Amino acid sequence: MPKELIRLSNCSMAFDEDIVLDNINLYFNDKEFLTLLGPSGCGKTTTLRIIGGFLKPTSGDVFFDGVRINDVPPHKRMVNTIFQKYALFTHLNVFENIAFGLRLQRMNGKKLDMREISSRVMEMLEVVSLKGFEGRDVSTLSGGQQQRVAIARALVNRPKVLLLDEPLGALDMRLRKDMQNELKNIQQATGITFVYVTHDQEEALAMSDTVVVMESGIIQQIGTPEDIYNEPKNAFVADFIGESNIVDGIMLSDGVVEMFGRKLKCLDGGFEPSEPVDVVIRPEDIDIVDPDKGMLSGTVASITFRGVIYDIIVDFNGFKWLIQTTDLSPIGARIGVKIDPDGIHIMKKSPFSGIYGDYSSFSAEYDEIGDAEHELHMQDDESPR
Ligand code: ATP
Repeated sequence: MPKELIRLSNCSMAFDEDIVLDNINLYFNDKEFLTLLGPSGCGKTTTLRIIGGFLKPTSGDVFFDGVRINDVPPHKRMVNTIFQKYALFTHLNVFENIAFGLRLQRMNGKKLDMREISSRVMEMLEVVSLKGFEGRDVSTLSGGQQQRVAIARALVNRPKVLLLDEPLGALDMRLRKDMQNELKNIQQATGITFVYVTHDQEEALAMSDTVVVMESGIIQQIGTPEDIYNEPKNAFVADFIGESNIVDGIMLSDGVVEMFGRKLKCLDGGFEPSEPVDVVIRPEDIDIVDPDKGMLSGTVASITFRGVIYDIIVDFNGFKWLIQTTDLSPIGARIGVKIDPDGIHIMKKSPFSGIYGDYSSFSAEYDEIGDAEHELHMQDDESPR
């Protein structure tokens, strides 16, 4: 049973009149890798600073292990922070950079002999794969190696929680990916709770146990990477986490949605009869078939080669969808599309409806769409849930 470590309860933050966090409720479990994900300015860093004790919420409470810590200063919380600009001490070598916090504790009266400092530093060098680098001048290290020294410097103090604010932001793509794996390994090896801030959805999905999606100071969704990707709660989350085609639909009954004038089978239910909904279809869930066999048919408007797959924009009488496929169809080709019921995800309407999820300007000419069959494309053996 996971143990709760930190809880933010009804936390709001305002700077002058500006509300930048609006009634946040959130908890982190011990040994969890949790990521705060959202666009620039959504309040991720502010949330992190509240956890670290660098900011006091305007209202609401912060609990650590069940104890209210609103008034506990940063250095008395069992929390350490790594910022994007990790600022190593350039006049100290790798060993001394990592040992710095321990030496400080010793100066402040903590019982730490030189042997223990040395063994803890060497242990951390091993954790961050920098064994043998202890005598090196930090200015001679690569960006990734410097980042690892910063991680070791933070971990050597054995915090219960490590706060990481876009720590890989300064690294190039390749190194970033390597470091993502390494950070995940370090987190699992040390069992320290990581609270990670990023605006990069791929990074969040790759590393986290739990992702918290934020927008305009409000939590939009909390879940595992799979939940967030497969079951986005609203059009903002669907659009922010990967590519999505989002169209208007009407939920006719459990398992049947009407979209573009067609009735399509899906797996969702629990909506009011004829409730207007947002329908999300991920580009990789769309199969290209012959035009006369498709649920809809349209014309290939553009193709971009992405390495393994093609991004194909298909024009359904002015409404453009993104399809990701390994099958190449030339520009101008007439194609049909088929979507399995589990590729059609239904969301309630929200303030984000109509803002996201089409790959051109909207067209209202739904009635004229394609020459595809108007029939309900449901196999008899698949009854709606
Ligand atoms: P980014 O990814 O760009 O760092 P973020 O999601 O981390 O963004 P925050 O840094 O938490 O966002 O900022 C949220 C909002 O609060 C922004 O509009 C920011 O300008 C504002 N803000 C943050 N700190 C202060 C401050 N000390 N005074 C006034 N406004 C602030």
